[in-house]
Amino acid sequence: MSKSYHGSCLCGTVRFSVDGFSEQAANCYCSMCRKFHGAAFGTLVAVEGLVWLSGKDALKEYVAPNGTTRTFCCQCGSSLGFRVKGEPLEQIELAISAFDVDIPVTIDAQIYTDHKANWCELPSNIPAFSAGREE
Ligand SMILES: [Zn+2]
Ligand SMILES: [Zn+2]
Repeated sequence: MSKSYHGSCLCGTVRFSVDGFSEQAANCYCSMCRKFHGAAFGTLVAVEGLVWLSGKDALKEYVAPNGTTRTFCCQCGSSLGFRVKGEPLEQIELAISAFDVDIPVTIDAQIYTDHKANWCELPSNIPAFSAGREE
C-alpha cells in the first residue's frame, strides 16, 4: 500500500489526497504566481493519485489571458492549483503550501526570477533561472 499525503484549503471545504509527487518543483516568481498566491513566489507540484476527498464542487477557476487555469476555493480563496492551457482538472499541479503534512519534495529551481519583487531575496543555494528552467 502506498502512503498518501493530505492537503486542504484554509477553510477546510476542499480536501484532497495524493500518493506521489513529481521529482521537480520550482519556486516561481512570475507576476501571475505572485498575485495568485499572494506571496513572493508560488510553488506548484505535479502529483500522482490525486483524489478530491471533499469540496470538489467548491473549486473555482480563473483562466488567465495566456490560457492557463488557476484553481482556488470559492469559500476562502485559498490558491490550490494550476494547469496549462487546455488540460483537464486531472492534470492539475497543486499548490505545495496546501499540504497539511510534510511531503517528499525538494525545491530544485527558482524560475522567472527576473520578475521577482525588489524586497525579495533569493536563496543562493537553489539554481535560479531568469525565465523558465533551461533544458
Ligand atoms: Zn476553502
Ligand atoms: Zn509563475
